[in-house]
Amino acid sequence: MACIVQKFGGSSVASAEHIKNVADRISNRVSQGDSIVVVVSAMGDTTDDLNRLALSMSQDPNPREMDVLLSTGETITSTLLSMALNDLGVDAISLSGAQAGIITDDVFGRARISEIKTDRIDFELEKGRVVIVAGFQGISSDFDVTTFGRGGSDTTAVALAAAVDASQCEIYTDVAGVYTADPRICSSARPLQEIGYEEMLEMASTGARVMHARAVEIGELYDVPILVLSSFNEDADGTLIHREITMEQGNKVRGVAHQDKVAKVTVRGVPDQPGIAVHLFGPLAAANVSVDTIVQNASVEKLTDMTFTIAPEDLTAALKVVNEVKLSLGAMEIISEIDLGTVSIIGTGMASAPGFAALMFKTLYENNINIEMISTSDIRITCVVKADKVHDAVNALHSTFELDVVPE
Ligand code: ADP
Ligand code: ASP
Ligand code: MG
Repeated sequence: MACIVQKFGGSSVASAEHIKNVADRISNRVSQGDSIVVVVSAMGDTTDDLNRLALSMSQDPNPREMDVLLSTGETITSTLLSMALNDLGVDAISLSGAQAGIITDDVFGRARISEIKTDRIDFELEKGRVVIVAGFQGISSDFDVTTFGRGGSDTTAVALAAAVDASQCEIYTDVAGVYTADPRICSSARPLQEIGYEEMLEMASTGARVMHARAVEIGELYDVPILVLSSFNEDADGTLIHREITMEQGNKVRGVAHQDKVAKVTVRGVPDQPGIAVHLFGPLAAANVSVDTIVQNASVEKLTDMTFTIAPEDLTAALKVVNEVKLSLGAMEIISEIDLGTVSIIGTGMASAPGFAALMFKTLYENNINIEMISTSDIRITCVVKADKVHDAVNALHSTFELDVVPE
């Protein structure tokens, strides 16, 4: 029996009316004979609201309690959607992440899936039910509720698609697919018909939040075709994320991604000797602070500066760790900055052709945008720039690399 997974994001289930529309859509699909697992996000801004509520109780909320709290957002949607489907005469059942057998590690707020026990889902599908799973959550081996980090419902969907061997994972969102840049800040951005996992992963990791990066990773690992579609425009084709990509190869930069906010920490005046990096980044990793770009300056008189970027919400934790190791590193000073962002160009075609970096830097220079830091992979170049210049940078690069032009 063909099985598909469909995921509906926050804006697609923002109100009772939206949820009823989603139920109609699922009901039509069921009548075509498809067996369906649905993954839902919390309604609209619920996750933000729950976060605010927690912060009104405590400036440093207990991470375990935080995960139980946040998981309730998606649980609410799953029950309401099940009720709406039942009213349409469709047999459906809601399951929390734990009930769906999603087992994770015990890192609250950014848990990773270790295993999915699909017995319950299989059992319900066998009965001919639509199974609605609350996204972005699982359960640890100690039976604590865990969540996957913002945007994590995509990861639930793709992981479930892999676990139940679905033919496809459909991600319904508020835009008509994956665009060449965020369509909300770049009016000439256009939807891509298709994109490979590798490029999509780089886009997602550098800010294209239309897909959770870990969802793309799982998709690639288990070869799950992911179709990103609009919840609101049924006529749009959407974007297929998959292994084989045949079209649009001529366009060497596939997309521009950005992050509106990143934080930077500089550890000044550390001795230029073996062991410094491990004694700095080891404790940061142990505190679960994920570090993006790292730059070490050339040493002057055997002293060097070490600079790295992190998500702004990790700054307090990072500064705590860095201040703890400051003395043992022999560092002179610690400086942090938060009014920064990033802009990245991504494309597999860049791996084999020179000149992309020079053209990117020239474009930023011509637009009077100072580059604070640079990092690269084979298929990506990222520049850290001032936060208020990020949108200008995206639009300028989108135009320089002719991403508004549909390739032949
Ligand atoms: P959902 O709630 O459905 O998961 P998200 O808000 O997480 O939706 O992701 C969709 C948003 O991602 C869009 O509204 C858009 O502003 C943003 N986005 C950023 N980069 C891109 C891109 N390259 N293509 C499409 N959307 C993008
Ligand atoms: N509700 C969570 C969030 O807003 C997870 C998700 O929607 O993917 O980040
Ligand atoms: Mg999302």
